[in-house]
Amino acid sequence: METLEQNIAIVKSKIGEAAAKSGRSPEEIHLVAVTKTVPPETVQKAVNLGITLLGENRVQEAGEKVDIVRGNVQWHLIGHLQKNKVKPAIKLFSMIQSLDSLGLAEEIEKRAGEIRRVMDVLIQINIGREETKSGIDADDAVEFIKKVSQLPHIKIKGLMAIPPFKEDPEEVRYYFRKMNDIFQNIKMMQIENVEMNFLSMGMTHDFGIAIEEGSNMVRIGTGIFGKRK
Ligand SMILES: *Cc1c(COP(=O)(O)O)cnc(C)c1O
Repeated sequence: METLEQNIAIVKSKIGEAAAKSGRSPEEIHLVAVTKTVPPETVQKAVNLGITLLGENRVQEAGEKVDIVRGNVQWHLIGHLQKNKVKPAIKLFSMIQSLDSLGLAEEIEKRAGEIRRVMDVLIQINIGREETKSGIDADDAVEFIKKVSQLPHIKIKGLMAIPPFKEDPEEVRYYFRKMNDIFQNIKMMQIENVEMNFLSMGMTHDFGIAIEEGSNMVRIGTGIFGKRK
C-alpha cells in the first residue's frame, strides 16, 4: 500500500474507534481532507481513494485546485475569509466553515444574493478566547446566530472551532466538551432557518478526542498528506 492510502486507512480506523467510544457509527463522522500546500495531483490521488470533502484555508490556493481536481468532491473554506475575497469564495466552495463576523455575513449575503444561491456556513467559535484566533465568543453565539439567520442567502449548518493547541490533546477535551454543550443548546432552541447538523472540530493531533466529545466533522491535513513544508 502507498503511504497516502495507508494514512487514510489509519485515520479512518481511528475515526471508527472514537465514534464507537461515543456510541456512534463511523459513517456519522465526516472527514474533511485539508489540502493546503498539497499539490493538485496529490489531492486527486486522495479523491481517487475515496475522499469526498476537501478543506482549504485560502481562497486563492483553492482557486488553483478546484478546476483541476476531478470527481465527486466538495470544497470547504476553513480559514479566515476577507470581505474582498467573498465573491470568488462563493463560487469555489460549497461551505464556508469560518463565518466569524456580522460584516462578513452581510457581504456573503450580498454576493450570494447576486448569483441567487444560498451559501452554507458554519459559525466559527473562538472557544479558547484566544486573541490570535478569529471566531465569535461563545457568550455571543446565540445572538449572532439569530442575526445571521435572518439573511435569506445564508444557511447556518452548524459550528466550527479551532481550540487552543496543547501538547497533550487530553487538555483540549474541555474545549471540545464546551463546544458540544453550545452546539446541543443551540440545536434545542430550534431557531428558524438554522440547522445544527455539523460540529466541525478535531485536527490531526486531537481528532480522536474531538469525536469522543461529539464532533461529527474532523479536518485532517498532516494525518493524511504528511507534514507540510
Ligand atoms: C491546517 C488546518 C487543519 C488541519 O491541520 P492538521 O494538523 O494538519 O490536521 C484543520 N483546520 C484548519 C482550520 C486548518 O487551517
